[in-house]
Amino acid sequence: MKIDRPLSLDTLAIHAGQQPDPHTGAIMTPIYQTSTYVQPALGKAKLAGYEYARTKNPTRTAFENCVAALECEQDGAGYGAAFASGCGAETTITHLLQPGDHMVVSDDVYGGTFRMFDKVFAAEGKGIQFTYVDMTNQSAFEAAFRANTKMVWIETPTNPMLKVIDLERVIGFAKKKGAITVVDNTFMSPIFQRPFRFGADIVLHSATKFLNGHSDVVSGVTVTKDKALADRIYFLQKSLGAVAGPMDSWLALRGLKTLPLRMQRHDANGRTIAQKLAEHPEVEKVIYPGLKSHPQHALAAKQMGGFGGMISFVAKGGIEKARRIVEGTQIFALAESLGGVESLIEHPAIMTHASVPPETRRALGIDDGFIRISVGVESVEDLWEDLRTALAR
Ligand code: PLP
Repeated sequence: MKIDRPLSLDTLAIHAGQQPDPHTGAIMTPIYQTSTYVQPALGKAKLAGYEYARTKNPTRTAFENCVAALECEQDGAGYGAAFASGCGAETTITHLLQPGDHMVVSDDVYGGTFRMFDKVFAAEGKGIQFTYVDMTNQSAFEAAFRANTKMVWIETPTNPMLKVIDLERVIGFAKKKGAITVVDNTFMSPIFQRPFRFGADIVLHSATKFLNGHSDVVSGVTVTKDKALADRIYFLQKSLGAVAGPMDSWLALRGLKTLPLRMQRHDANGRTIAQKLAEHPEVEKVIYPGLKSHPQHALAAKQMGGFGGMISFVAKGGIEKARRIVEGTQIFALAESLGGVESLIEHPAIMTHASVPPETRRALGIDDGFIRISVGVESVEDLWEDLRTALAR
């Protein structure tokens, strides 16, 4: 798209990184289901810059550019790289480090991220060091730095405790220390949170979640504004090879078109359900950044454009009650993952965060009655009726 004036994210989500197909005028970017590209002659310039599809694919390029435009708030800005999964993106980014380097990580990251760091990159031979810290505690965060700290990994809101981390403060300190800052923006999406405004170096997504939004793709994306860093990421992307395929890129590109609309509905439904849960006698505690009871509510209101559809709550009655609830809903499906149009319910201690050691889970507050829901875009009345009925079981 060639428009010089600034465009809203609503428009960028539909058009950025895309133009009608030059051969046919097709308005939708085609699925370039090809592994290679014919070269005009030996040693001659490649046609349109493509030579082998692990390195580049036009459908993937459109998806990468569209996410980059949303995070950077401008078409053509930033450098996106799409991967086979969020974990594929994370593996690739962690390879920016060398053995002996140290990373400071939010203590409450997604269980699979923790497993990758703890069981793969910290393992003997890989030799990367990790310190997990509650980043809502700035002095504890600053104390976690070492002379060899090269990267800071921030997830906000965290998964599943929904702690909100002050991006300006945390990134500001990391920058002074010369560490690369990575923000996992999966939960908020660029519609509600834009980490580059706070100086982040890399924004990362599990595109499996809100970006794609339809529970039919596993994918990941990174974006950076720094050309030198982008070149290192592209080198790792093609060398490690965990790239997004053309069909998944196309589905995710299509999903992006409704991201702003979907996020508005996730947010509206999330606010209503969180409030109703907070008033329910069978519920001990609700964790949702949009509730005044949330410890970082004011920060969340300042830093985020919405509160989204992720809610954690603790049911009275421990594991037995939690089981009756998660097995008792009919619209909320019992499943891992989040961010799709359909509502999901899960039990982190048994499901998504089973790889986090039990003592760490307990210290974080992920106890037996702890339930996480991803509120979809269905009718909020139907969703509440479903939860209310399950809570009464
Ligand atoms: N980051 C967050 C916040 C997640 O919730 C997840 C998956 O649940 C990931 C990263 C990993 O993404 P994927 O499952 O696409 O590999």
